[in-house]
Amino acid sequence: MDWVGLKAVFGPPAQGQLPLDCSHDQFLMILAYAVMCAACFATLHVSERAIQVENYHSRQRWQVLGAFCLAGGVWAMHYIAMLALEVPMPMRYDLTATIASLLIALVAGALAMKAITQETLNRPSSILNATAIGLGIVTMHYLGMSALRSEAAQYYEPKSFALSVLLAILSSLVLLLMARELRHGGDALYQFRRGVASVLIGAGLLCTHMTGIWSLHLTMTTNMAMHSTQPENGLQLGLTIALIALLIVGGSISASLADKKLQEKEIDLRRVNLLLDQLDQARVSLQQVAHHDPLTNLLNRRGFNQIFAEKLLEYSSEGGMLAVMFLDIDHFKRINDSLGHDAGDELLKVIAERIHSATRVQDVVARFGGDEFCILIDLPNAEEARSLAERIMQKMTQPIVLAGRRMVMTTSIGVSTFPKDGQTCEELLKHADLALYQSKDNGRNRVNFYIPSLKTQACLELNLEQELCNALHEGSGLQLYYQPIVDLRNGQVSKLEASLHWEHPRHGLLTPDRFLRIAEANGLIVDLDLWVLRRACQDLSELARVGLDELVIAVNWSAINLGRPDLVDEVLAVLQETGIVPSRLELEVTENALMGNISNVISQLKQIRNLGISLSIDDFGSGASSLAYLKRLPLDTVKIDRSFIVDTLKSPQDMEIVQAIVAMAHTLRLKVVAEGVETPEQLDYVKQYGCDYVQGNLFTAPQPLGQLSGELRQQRTASDSPVSKPAARVVPLKQKTAKKGY
Ligand code: GH3
Ligand code: MG
Repeated sequence: MDWVGLKAVFGPPAQGQLPLDCSHDQFLMILAYAVMCAACFATLHVSERAIQVENYHSRQRWQVLGAFCLAGGVWAMHYIAMLALEVPMPMRYDLTATIASLLIALVAGALAMKAITQETLNRPSSILNATAIGLGIVTMHYLGMSALRSEAAQYYEPKSFALSVLLAILSSLVLLLMARELRHGGDALYQFRRGVASVLIGAGLLCTHMTGIWSLHLTMTTNMAMHSTQPENGLQLGLTIALIALLIVGGSISASLADKKLQEKEIDLRRVNLLLDQLDQARVSLQQVAHHDPLTNLLNRRGFNQIFAEKLLEYSSEGGMLAVMFLDIDHFKRINDSLGHDAGDELLKVIAERIHSATRVQDVVARFGGDEFCILIDLPNAEEARSLAERIMQKMTQPIVLAGRRMVMTTSIGVSTFPKDGQTCEELLKHADLALYQSKDNGRNRVNFYIPSLKTQACLELNLEQELCNALHEGSGLQLYYQPIVDLRNGQVSKLEASLHWEHPRHGLLTPDRFLRIAEANGLIVDLDLWVLRRACQDLSELARVGLDELVIAVNWSAINLGRPDLVDEVLAVLQETGIVPSRLELEVTENALMGNISNVISQLKQIRNLGISLSIDDFGSGASSLAYLKRLPLDTVKIDRSFIVDTLKSPQDMEIVQAIVAMAHTLRLKVVAEGVETPEQLDYVKQYGCDYVQGNLFTAPQPLGQLSGELRQQRTASDSPVSKPAARVVPLKQKTAKKGY
């Protein structure tokens, strides 16, 4: 081989050639090894970075740095070791070959870094890559050695040469494997393993160099003068090369450490960002939960109010008209009571869907809870709200199949509009609610718009509610009025129906229909019923004291009071407290009160009746009761609703109904009272139909006991007289009327 001045010959030296004795400077050899180990350590460090970074360009930069570390280290080790060579004749190095060897080292380094950073590196490709890198390294070595210029001839011994190639390949293989093995980690053990690997690879590469040197034989002709020498400034040059190499190595390690720290920080930052993202998502889903109704998936009250407030702000500044529409399903409780809560839930979902389908995309629909819905609409005019309400009511009339039954639901609607009916959310909602109550009061299944008089009425009712509460607790103003019930068999007043009246300080005498609805709405009715019962029992004692000890007082009992678990005990306590015989008391319950919760009520009514108190069903025929229920109830009397009696002369149908009720009641062994008899003609008819008792203003309007008791005593005296005739005792009185309602 004769390339760039290299005269390398394999085989024994030619005739007349003397082999030269060479030695090595030990310090430079140790320095070469140290540089090599440091370079390997740096290469492994940088490899870890090159493997771990995700950015393509960063990875390339780390690959280049790694290649420089390895190539610089191998090349520096080689040259320091060459400088350590002591040959007994002057030597110099060819610059071109030296630079060429550095370039080849760089190629080998680049190959190594490429292999290390490959996605996968299986065994064959590891060996192939290690071979290529190893060959690069030995090429660098031998090219470097060939740069040696002296008068001596150079010969290479083939076995050592082959061994050096093998060592270079093995060292490269170990480098590849260790770099891939030690790519994740940072603890002390990990650094120790990296250090051990660097020392081993460094040793392998130094051995490569040494075997290369051993394979080199320098010879000279016998007439050449010999004097042991080292290259000029060898030590200085070696130290300089070592310094430069160590600077590169140190810089690379520092850069790698700094980058690793940076990456860790970046990872921490990413983790924090991820946590923040998760927190954000959790907040969004919490908001979703907090602002939506889980049953219907519509907005809930809170979600609605938020949007409402935003819209109101926008419309207040930019102008425009909004409508708030309150909906409450009519008689929804019946579904829960009859088909169960689950069926009720299903129904709510269907209704929600229907309401939603009747609205436009921009309308805001919410379920406020229970069977209450609310819609926010922006409108060109109020009529738009009416047509939407009618559309919803129309949709509701389509039958719904639930639990195998077809049913038709209706809804009552109240509407308030912005800016006419209020400026704030609370005001508009309150006014829509008032309008809704109006729809309920007017018979349900209708829409009502808010008008200011509703507010006045609501305020009035609120005041009345407070005043009624005070009146009950102070016992002032409340009093019982009585209306006689006449037995048609003997014309005697046999019962008195008690009704509560209220002498209001400003509004005068209030009949029950003015305030009982309020008492029922706020639960005050329970205390009022008890008050009435106690007072009626006291009046019974008073009547007994004046000789009217056969009279029975009928007391009305509200629907809300029925079904209360304490009811029977409370009635018993009042009877004991006043010493009244239970048979002198009758409880009247309305048909609708019974039908509302019949299963609860039956056992309670039986208990009351077992005490000896008689029971009557009031306003019969006006409600939706089934006649079949009558035979299950422990009743004594049926009171035919006044509406049938009032119209009985005009309406043949009403006549027939009255006849049917009387016949049916008598079949069930119940007595019949005709309520609301106001004219002698009506009296004749109800007698003719076979009613047992009559009650009405034809005889006496409800009045306080004090006004009534004198007359009752007179009648009693007359009845005791042997000349009196029963018919003559039925005396119509012209009294001021007070409506019955309690
Ligand atoms: P009205 O005609 O006066 O509106 O009477 P209503 O029977 O519809 O009763 P109201 O509107 O006063 O009360 C609604 C009822 O809805 C009260 C409660 O028993 C029932 N309810 C409340 N929330 C739920 C629910 O989530 N699911 C079901 N199935 N029923 C509910
Ligand atoms: Mg309802």
